[in-house]
Amino acid sequence: MNRLPRIRFAHTPTPLFHHPELDRLIGAEVWVKRDDMTSGAAAGNKIRKLELLLGHARQQGATVLLTCGGAQSNHARATAVLAAELGLRSVLFLRTSDPTSPPADRGNLLLDRMVGATVHFVTPQQYRDNLALMASAAQTLVEQGQHPYVIPEGGSNGRGAIGYVLAMQEVREQLDLGLAGDVREFDAVVHACGSGGTAAGVALGAARCQLAREVIAMAVCQDSATFSGIVARIVDEAHELVPTLPPPAPWRIIDDWRGPAYGVASEEQRRFIVTVARHTGLLLDPVYTGKALFALRQLSPRPRRVLFVHTGGLPGLLAQASDFAGEL
Ligand SMILES: *Cc1c(COP(=O)(O)O)cnc(C)c1O
Repeated sequence: MNRLPRIRFAHTPTPLFHHPELDRLIGAEVWVKRDDMTSGAAAGNKIRKLELLLGHARQQGATVLLTCGGAQSNHARATAVLAAELGLRSVLFLRTSDPTSPPADRGNLLLDRMVGATVHFVTPQQYRDNLALMASAAQTLVEQGQHPYVIPEGGSNGRGAIGYVLAMQEVREQLDLGLAGDVREFDAVVHACGSGGTAAGVALGAARCQLAREVIAMAVCQDSATFSGIVARIVDEAHELVPTLPPPAPWRIIDDWRGPAYGVASEEQRRFIVTVARHTGLLLDPVYTGKALFALRQLSPRPRRVLFVHTGGLPGLLAQASDFAGEL
């Protein structure tokens, strides 16, 4: 694993945050792995995957990065920011209901524009075949003498997932240093699941470092059957890349609290996000982390001692100001 090419971007180790009011609100002992603090503009969980992916891209001599996601994709934004840092071009294929009236440059999209990404809006139907879309764009770039590197949605393949195997090792070291008091192991690691790479890496890393008995990934878009297939495939890819990895820790996907739609939180979820912010100072986003922590609170039975991975998403919250007006 240590021989894989990697570029150190993330500010690590990220803190382990514990707040008595959060424990009370959730009804469990909750340690928050603050991966919302992995960076400045590139912050969130994607930067850990991109350390491996861009290490590989650089080794391959890439000059332009291609990736895809929703219009407010945190992954696309992190890729664009890091591309600018490396002096590479970035091309983003972003899903939106009507590309002829594209969304305003807010939140992640504003940051994409700031760092000079090339943005192509595509319909949900075109997006379904995003790998083919990117492959054909890459072919055109090759014909123009460029060296494209295609990163799948969410940076979620075996290589990207290794970033979360390493993150779990980071937590192991923090526990061994006594940074979470007498905690040596968690009942569960809980996090939001959007493209499966974090779940795969966390499950492999939790087993490798004996960090937790199980991993609970809270789905925010697809259902649990779909995600189970995706995560299993990414775990297989990671094993192919790093054969010394152990089998993953027991993991499951829960899809009961996805809310009204991807990117849309229910009123109850939004109220919960505001309550957590006001009692703890912890800012959650309405697309991923707010739904995942809300789901943990609803879970029954609930694991007693939890590592909750705060995967970031602040720009997505800032893009939804008007949706929160009723809760403030
Ligand atoms: C992408 C993302 C996730 C989901 O991670 P995956 O590895 O794509 O499943 C969770 N939270 C935030 C804030 C994200 O941007």
